[in-house]
Amino acid sequence: MSATPRVAIYARISEDPSGEAVGVSRQLEDARTMAAARDWQVVAEYSDNDISALGGRQRPGYDALMADVAGGRLDKVIVFHTSRLWRNRRERAAGIELLAAQAVSVAAVRGPELDLSSAYGRGMAGLMGEFDTMESEVKSERIRAAKAKTAREGRPSSRVSYGWRRVAMDGGRRTQDVIDAPAAAVVRAIVSRLLAGDTMLAIVADLNARQVPTPTAHLRALRWDRDGWCQWPRPATSAWTMATVRGLAIRDANAAIRVHHAGRPTEQTFEATWEPLVTLEDHLAVKALLPGSGVSPVGRRGDRQYLLTGGAAYCGDCGGTMRTKTGASDKGKRRYLCEGCGNIGRLIAPVDALAADVVRARILSGELSSLLEAPAADDAPRRERVAELQQRLADAATSFSAGRITIDQLEAISATLRPELDALQRDAPSAPAIPAGLAADIRQANTAAAVAELWNGWTVQQRRTAIDALGLRLTINRASKKGPRFNPNDIAITWDR
Ligand SMILES: [Zn+2]
Repeated sequence: MSATPRVAIYARISEDPSGEAVGVSRQLEDARTMAAARDWQVVAEYSDNDISALGGRQRPGYDALMADVAGGRLDKVIVFHTSRLWRNRRERAAGIELLAAQAVSVAAVRGPELDLSSAYGRGMAGLMGEFDTMESEVKSERIRAAKAKTAREGRPSSRVSYGWRRVAMDGGRRTQDVIDAPAAAVVRAIVSRLLAGDTMLAIVADLNARQVPTPTAHLRALRWDRDGWCQWPRPATSAWTMATVRGLAIRDANAAIRVHHAGRPTEQTFEATWEPLVTLEDHLAVKALLPGSGVSPVGRRGDRQYLLTGGAAYCGDCGGTMRTKTGASDKGKRRYLCEGCGNIGRLIAPVDALAADVVRARILSGELSSLLEAPAADDAPRRERVAELQQRLADAATSFSAGRITIDQLEAISATLRPELDALQRDAPSAPAIPAGLAADIRQANTAAAVAELWNGWTVQQRRTAIDALGLRLTINRASKKGPRFNPNDIAITWDR
C-alpha cells in the first residue's frame, strides 16, 4: 500500500420506511470528513439510488467501484455503514472475495475499518454483514406479520374504503371505520338495482346525471372536510364508469369480508370489524350476477370482444362456461378460463381458430342446407321484440343522462318494459334460429374461399351468432400432454343441430 492510500467513497440510499436511512449527500459528506481527518486521498466517489425507478436491481455505482477495485486502482473504500455496500449474502460473499484478492480495506464512518487481506477483517466483514442482513430481514418479517395480524383481526388494510369514514377511538389510540351514510347509500343502491335487473348502463347514466361524486372525488372531499386542505380548491367530480360501478358492486368489503393477499394463492378471508353495507346473501347474489372480471353484463349490442365466452365453450371438468383472463405466465396473452372451477383454461387464439375452422367446414359440407331452407322458426318475432325492448331501455337511459327525462320517468319506463323483456328472454329457445340475413350469406358461400371471406368479414358478434345458430359447443378438457403446445384433440366438438 502506498504512503497515501487511494480511497474511494461509496454511498447508497435505499427504500426505508423507518426513515433511518441517511441521504446520499450526507453519507458522502461524512465519508469525505473521515478521509480528510486521516489524510487519505479521495480519488473517486460512487453512489446508487435504490429508490429511483431504475434502481433496485441494478447498481451502476457499485459496479463501477468493483471494476476499479478489480483493476487495482484503489486501496480503500469508505462507506457510511457496511449495510450500504452489500444488500444480501450473495453480493457480500462475492464482494469480500474481490476486495480481499486486491488487498482493499473497507472503512465505515459508523463502524470499524476492516482489512480484508486479513482473516480477521474478512471474518468481521462477514459477521457484520450477517447482522445487517438479519436486521433487514427481521424488519420485513415484522411488517409481514403485522399485516397478517391486521387481516386476521379483520381490520382494514391501509386507506379507508368508499362507504366508510375512519374515526379515532379511545382518545386517538385506535381507529374504527364507520359507515359513511351518503357513500353507503350509493353502494346499496347500486347493489339493489343490479339485483332488481337494472342494467349497468342505466345505473352509470343515473349516477352521472345526478352528479353523484365518484368514489375518488368523494374520498378526497372527506379529507378536504376533515383536514381542511384550504389551499386546494374543492376537488371536482369526475365521471362514473361501468368499471367503477362494477368494482363497487362486487367488493367483498361490502359484506364485511376482509380479504388478505387478494388474488394470490395464499388468499384468505376474515370477518371484518367494519359494519357491512349489504347482506351476505345480496353480496353473493350480485357477485353471481357479475361473473368473471372486466366483462360487463350490459347487453350493449356489438360489443362482444371474445368469441366463446358465456356459453359456447365449456369446461371439461365441471361444465362451467368460460371467461377470459390474462395469465402472468403467458406474457400477457389472454386465456379462456373456466368460470366454475377455474382449473381449465386455454390460450384464446388457438381455440378461436379451431372454432372458426369447424364452423367453416360445416358451412362448406352442405349439411346445413336443410337447416337453412327451414322457415326461420317462429322465434323471429320474439327476438325482434327483445331487441326493440332493449333499444327502448337504452334510449330511455340516454334520454335520462341527457336530462330529457327524470329518474322517476326512467324508473317508470324500466318498470313497464322490464317484466316483458325478462319473460321473453326466459322463453328463448336453446339454439336460436339462423337469422335470415346470415342464412342468405351462408347459402351463397359455396367455395372454401367464399366461406373464408364470409367468416373474415363478420364481426365477433356475427361469428358468435353463427356459432349459436349452429349449436356449436366446444368442451375444453384437461391438456393430455404437459407443455405449452395447443392440442386440438383436447377440445371436444359437438353440434346441437
Ligand atoms: Zn371448470
